Amino acid sequence: MNIHEYQAKQIFANYNIPIPTGKMIKRAEDAKTAAQEIGGNIWAVKAQIHAGGRGKGGGVKLARNLEEVEKYASEILGMTLITHQTGKAGKLVKKVYIEGGVDIQKEFYLGIVLDRTAEIPVMMASTEGGMEIEKVAAETPGKIVKIAIDPLIGFQGFHARELAFGMNLPKIQTRSFSKFAKALYEVYSKNDASLIEINPLILNEEDQFVALDAKMNFDDNALFRHQSIEAMRDLNEEEPTETEAKKYGLSYVKLDGNVGCMVNGAGLAMSTMDIIKYEGGEPANFLDVGGAASAETVAKGFEIILEDKNVKAIFVNIFGGIVRCDRIAKGILEATKKTEVGVPLVVRLDGTNAEEAAIILDNADIEIIITASDLADGAKKVVSAAKGAK
Ligand code: ADP
Ligand code: MG
Repeated sequence: MNIHEYQAKQIFANYNIPIPTGKMIKRAEDAKTAAQEIGGNIWAVKAQIHAGGRGKGGGVKLARNLEEVEKYASEILGMTLITHQTGKAGKLVKKVYIEGGVDIQKEFYLGIVLDRTAEIPVMMASTEGGMEIEKVAAETPGKIVKIAIDPLIGFQGFHARELAFGMNLPKIQTRSFSKFAKALYEVYSKNDASLIEINPLILNEEDQFVALDAKMNFDDNALFRHQSIEAMRDLNEEEPTETEAKKYGLSYVKLDGNVGCMVNGAGLAMSTMDIIKYEGGEPANFLDVGGAASAETVAKGFEIILEDKNVKAIFVNIFGGIVRCDRIAKGILEATKKTEVGVPLVVRLDGTNAEEAAIILDNADIEIIITASDLADGAKKVVSAAKGAK
């Protein structure tokens, strides 16, 4: 799960990590009051969406008086912000964060992410703050200092010194940086985060480190023990079909292709996507209907897949282990009655009662259903059906 910058900063503040004072608003009329309460004479007006690169897209503006604060807030609220992380469609801005403008002496990058190869968290720091860190990593990897942190030992002084040394920080800044980095690791581990990114982390005129941006992702499987974080979920920012799928115990991820996939089991779903690509197609989604696939879940699965107007054909690839193929076949027939499918449906049912299933599908004689003998055959058929469809 992701949260907004203003929410991540609230969490930071609870751990005494310095942030500028700020207020989230949803209506431009509230902008001036918010800025007055924050105080000072310069403010940053920042779009709150679950994507980075807002500044370049026009979603972050510096206001030098209250009129400008209101003007920028009204321009940003309701705008469709397009950044390199939003995709072409962009994201509608419904919330704006107003915060005190900070004098920046220098910009840095600081992040923590779970390193899946090392199997422990890695803290990364760089003097190249404000830039896209992926670009720094690709072009000047030497400018990123990384340390792995054993969670059983936690964040230690030597970790902080290694990072500070790697960034050539003078001694006076090293102490302030160490305190900051230690607190950030606390935030990461205590909240079961999977990623924290501060870009830029800045050094202000008083040689104090301040988080100017904040991005946090959390491990969904640990959310049950962090109700206050779960409460920060913003459904506006999530793919509506993915949220709908979750309600029915389906695990769905929308992708960009045109071949819909309905599969039981995450592993089989992954290999189905692979083989579709191998045959020259592009999967439109990942969908795992789970072990207990039934007529209802199959029907719901079709509905969710078909919400995506790019879908030109669907591949149903079910392996009957616990579920019996004949029941799935009946489920598919029922589902086609409940939901107007309207695109070719390539069905591969294998495993328990596969022969009975084949008979059921053949006898039903439904025009859109194309049966497949195995995975490769199904992939070939669905890719050509998707290509053939208008
Ligand atoms: P994004 O990464 O989505 O573009 P940031 O929060 O990093 O958004 O803001 C973009 C840039 O705007 C920052 O790199 C910084 O230069 C400037 N900025 C952001 N917040 C403030 C602030 N409170 N005071 C001064 N400048 C700011
Ligand atoms: Mg940023």
